Amino acid sequence: MLRNDQLAEWDRENFFHPSTHLAQFARGEAPSRIITGAKGCHIEDREGNKHLDAFAGLYCVNVGYGRTEIAEAIAKQAHELAYYHAYVGHGTEASITLAKMVLDRAPDHMSKVYFGQSGSDANETNIKLIWYYNNILGRPEKKKIISRWRGYHGSGLMTGSLTGLELFHKKFDLPLAQVVHTEAPYYFRRDDLDMTEEQFTRHCVQKLEELIEREGADTIAAFVGEPVLGTGGLVPPPAGYWAAIQEVLAKHDILLVADEVVTGFGRLGSMMGSDHYDMKPDLITIAKGLTSAYAPLSGSIVSDKMWKVLEQGTDEYGVIGHGWTYSAHPIGAAAGVANLKLLDHLNLIQNNREVGAYLNSAMRDALDDHANVGDIRGEGMLCAVEFVKNRDGRVFFDAADKIGPQVAAALAARGVIGRAMPQGDILGFAPPFCLTRAEADEVVSKTVQAVDAVLG
Ligand code: PMP
Repeated sequence: MLRNDQLAEWDRENFFHPSTHLAQFARGEAPSRIITGAKGCHIEDREGNKHLDAFAGLYCVNVGYGRTEIAEAIAKQAHELAYYHAYVGHGTEASITLAKMVLDRAPDHMSKVYFGQSGSDANETNIKLIWYYNNILGRPEKKKIISRWRGYHGSGLMTGSLTGLELFHKKFDLPLAQVVHTEAPYYFRRDDLDMTEEQFTRHCVQKLEELIEREGADTIAAFVGEPVLGTGGLVPPPAGYWAAIQEVLAKHDILLVADEVVTGFGRLGSMMGSDHYDMKPDLITIAKGLTSAYAPLSGSIVSDKMWKVLEQGTDEYGVIGHGWTYSAHPIGAAAGVANLKLLDHLNLIQNNREVGAYLNSAMRDALDDHANVGDIRGEGMLCAVEFVKNRDGRVFFDAADKIGPQVAAALAARGVIGRAMPQGDILGFAPPFCLTRAEADEVVSKTVQAVDAVLG
């Protein structure tokens, strides 16, 4: 076995890590950490340290680590048929079965699923399908996409543009011109502190209407949003938000994309976030929870309404010019089938609902009165704690103080992984659905210790 210092050196010399401070890492100022194994909600590194992973990797290992049922399904598929493509009508038993299982779990008005590899490429697919759709319908000028500030939709060219976080735009010449951003549905960060939640929803709707008016409805193709803002801060929408937004979109014939990369397959305690908030999207993006990250696989679920037009397009123009070598990869599909079966057999969404509610209420009980805790919010197995310098008047810390990252580091030092969300001092939790109440208690008690260590 290679020595740890040898691996660390190779790591620094050769490996371009995503979302990492490249210079600090190369200089050895940021640690290299090599993960070797995991079981349930716990991960272990090469030095033998164990952590309770209360963010399920990147909120993706929904069924928990070390599920042999999924590992065996992957091994079986790899032995029988590791790969064949899905072009011109080819498939495998796994990909066809998974497509049926996905549609059985999607809202009734959805028709087909296209499989990719990542959440980012699934959203790229969605935007291409939207443009194709409007071209087939003879309205080539209706192409702009509305996304929200603080939305996260990936880090490609188009999807990085849709993402409404400065970090993903700065120095990359993004966003692209076809993307326009609107107000984040983030009640805690409203400008006018006197607004009620309902007034804030009306404010978000008004901002959207003003944007549509300014740009012209005949130039706007679609609105993209996560049912609950994820990477932008783990923020459930204010009361009545999705109903009111959908009314505006319907009025202007603007398609809705529900990006369910995080919320799909149970994260909110419902099978899909679209069901949870009564959304009727034209496209649904899925990834993480589709395979619980045992293999890379994503999907774009297409509504009946759009599907009919896509069919019409190929009758007019021939084969659709869109496909990846690894679309519907058999190993990803086998992992997806085994994962969705496990979700059902172990009643994991039910556990998620119960323990997620327990985690949220325990977090509130423990930290609601803390002078530097401004907001505690969550839905299903998502929970966020937002820190403020002063609760009176909701004064935020300077970003340079890095309070969120400091608390996350103090928490990790105590054996629990949370995530310092990238914009604002927000500590996020998104544990695997198999979290127990005892593990939830540990997350809360260690969070209190970490908050006290950093903020007193
Ligand atoms: N959409 C959402 C809502 C996400 O949270 C993410 C990833 N965090 C993506 C898209 C992009 O997925 P990927 O990283 O697999 O490209």
